[in-house]
Amino acid sequence: MRPTPLLLALTLALPAAAQAETLALQCGRLFDSATGRNLPERTVVVADGKVSEVREGHAAVPGATAVDLKGHTCSPGWIDLHVHLSGESSPQSYSEGFRLNPEFTVLRSTAYASRTLRAGFTSVRDLGGETTLALRDAVNQGWVEGPRIFAAGKSIATTGGHADPTNGFNHLISDALGTPGPAEGVVNSPDEARQAVRQRYKDGSDVIKITATGGVLSYARSGDAPQFTVDEVAAVVQTAHDYGYRVAAHAHGKEGMRRAIVGGVDTIEHGTYMDDEIFALMKKNGTWYVPTISAGRFVAEKAKIDGYYPDVVRPKAARIGSQIQDTFGRAWKAGVKIGFGTDAGVGLHGDNADEFVFMVEAGMPPAEALRAATANAAEILGRPELGRVAAGLPADIVAMPGDPLADIAATRKVDFVMKDGRIVRQPE
Ligand SMILES: [Zn+2]
Repeated sequence: MRPTPLLLALTLALPAAAQAETLALQCGRLFDSATGRNLPERTVVVADGKVSEVREGHAAVPGATAVDLKGHTCSPGWIDLHVHLSGESSPQSYSEGFRLNPEFTVLRSTAYASRTLRAGFTSVRDLGGETTLALRDAVNQGWVEGPRIFAAGKSIATTGGHADPTNGFNHLISDALGTPGPAEGVVNSPDEARQAVRQRYKDGSDVIKITATGGVLSYARSGDAPQFTVDEVAAVVQTAHDYGYRVAAHAHGKEGMRRAIVGGVDTIEHGTYMDDEIFALMKKNGTWYVPTISAGRFVAEKAKIDGYYPDVVRPKAARIGSQIQDTFGRAWKAGVKIGFGTDAGVGLHGDNADEFVFMVEAGMPPAEALRAATANAAEILGRPELGRVAAGLPADIVAMPGDPLADIAATRKVDFVMKDGRIVRQPE
């Protein structure tokens, strides 16, 4: 079925529940995220936003509209556990904060959300960006096209740390703004850490993000020094768990990572300078690793261009960026649990599937890379009903020509996307 422009416009304007039609997706193959294998010739029946049945073969389903995906591999919709929909890095990023209004930022982010969804990512975890909370709500209302968003809101940092919102400002501006505190996501004690988490609860966050070490793109010298004490991390984690939140920790350097893991965080993001000792500690504590190879490669590439990054950022981007893919390969071999994340926003939104290719380049089998973005990612979100295609579960389904298990680059060619049972795009 080829929707008319009018039908398409109506479909886009209506929330998912209003699409009453029953659809039968005739998939050439269906990736099973539980086993990591392709099931041949399956028909996925979708009604009322959910999968109602998965049948063997391609027989017609009475009362259902068939969607021909016989040359395609279908998969549970992918989940990117690390994006920043509020921006996209460029040489202008460092002055944008002074020029752009939040209204503009959130409108721009609607384009990033649409690109992300159309690339096959039906859910994302947004790890830092206040305007994403409004974007999430607008997507959930059906006003804006985008993935399901699980948003951290403002990241929690320490003074001068990665995500202190006043880094790099001159003292006139800093004095006028005042010293940022727990409400702004800056803490310097366990008590303030608890207050900052409670503020995120008040703001409506879905997940808590801390910056356990310095970061590449912040206007500060060190990209890897520890920036939280174990007590501060533990206070964040205990308070977050009170509210049912998971905690994600940005970390490049070893000591900050160690403290984050000991303090009880659920995921380590980037993990650049992990070694065998950290791998063992993560396995012992059940900590997940979300590598973001895409961002590492992107910043290392851009660091070669004069003027792309400020002088204080450029050497960090060159040194840290080039390391992540190698670290990921070693972590995978060591048996660390892996979730899929790109840090899109540092790199470009919509190129998220490149991460699959980078993971496989580093030694991970294609099936495991796909599981990292489906079953594993859903587990990390605490939403196991996502990341699977099965009767009774939300119908988040993507499809691409070819077979990603044979050639992982097929993931870059997604041309069918369904979210909540509604078709977002389909092959020409
Ligand atoms: Zn990030």
